[in-house]
Amino acid sequence: MLFSNTSCTDSQACEGSWNKESACKIGKSMAVQKGFEHRLIKDVKGFLLEEEGRCLYEIAAEASNMGPCLEIGCYCGKSTIYLGTACRENNSILFSIDHHRGSEEQQPGEEYFDPELFDPQTSRVDTFKEFGKTLEKAGLEDTVVPIVCRSHVAARLWATPLSLVFIDGGHSYEAVYRDYNCWAGHIMQDGYLLIHDIFEDPEEGGQAPYHVYKLAVTSSLFREFPMIKTLGVLKRL
Ligand code: MG
Repeated sequence: MLFSNTSCTDSQACEGSWNKESACKIGKSMAVQKGFEHRLIKDVKGFLLEEEGRCLYEIAAEASNMGPCLEIGCYCGKSTIYLGTACRENNSILFSIDHHRGSEEQQPGEEYFDPELFDPQTSRVDTFKEFGKTLEKAGLEDTVVPIVCRSHVAARLWATPLSLVFIDGGHSYEAVYRDYNCWAGHIMQDGYLLIHDIFEDPEEGGQAPYHVYKLAVTSSLFREFPMIKTLGVLKRL
């Protein structure tokens, strides 16, 4: 285990001080000023709420001044637009990792299967074509570096410190934990760890991201900020 599951003794760090109200307002106004193509974002398939996306942008705008950002699980590129736009403004880089074959729940017969993303020639889900179109339409081809493989493969010899890691890949406990274990150690001081799809209530969604999020919180290595919908926000101490 990369991070020990010890109790957080720093009450200030655990309580956090992020003002999510003002953060999202800033994100919205900046999004308008910077000319986000809302129609494009709306048309891109994905499961990210607008409020979460604006906060990804806002946090990446701060973080990417320190170094490159990295996302795990970009699907058709909705989160990539928010993160990548912020990176482009700082002349930074966003590494976007995805095997582009869909998560467990996106396979044929599963709840989130989308037949439009199924390639009959290869008989499997393929989101890479849509992802490429999104990068081109959003003008992010000189900012985003797609890495098409499973995230732990990319992590094997990774040595570049990261200013932001966004975990939104597979949603099994094994997948989320592995993404955390592979990548959280590469986050630089004052960098961010963001985890999507956190549901405290099992009735609302799967519990794997929530459990890994709590593991990160109790590691004493991060300061916890208030959640933005289902987006967990942690800052490396
Ligand atoms: Mg997600």
